Amino acid sequence: MPIYEYTCNDCTRLTSVFVRRVDSQVAPKCQHCGGERMQRAISRVAVHKTEQQILEEYGTPQPGGGPDSYKDPRQIGRWVEQRFEQMGMDLPQEARTMIDAAREGEFPAPVKDL
Ligand SMILES: [Zn+2]
Repeated sequence: MPIYEYTCNDCTRLTSVFVRRVDSQVAPKCQHCGGERMQRAISRVAVHKTEQQILEEYGTPQPGGGPDSYKDPRQIGRWVEQRFEQMGMDLPQEARTMIDAAREGEFPAPVKDL
């Protein structure tokens, strides 16, 4: 069942609306203030980050490394590992495989879903 997210124009909070069918008409109401001036919010999950956005959000891989170090596959691997370590998370298998490939000199597809 698809879930649509709406932003309330009155209180600016998000309301999630379950819809039975993708093409069904919904008249969402704000679940926080009851407002009816709702605006469809763009799903955060569907937004793919560009390389530039990643750099802006997380900074360059190494202090003083500059944008070029990001293009070094070995740097990318180390950076991702450190990130997950800092977050106290295990590295997903997919990322592990990608990093291993990168270290063998194989430059992977652009980082998408990290
Ligand atoms: Zn509201």
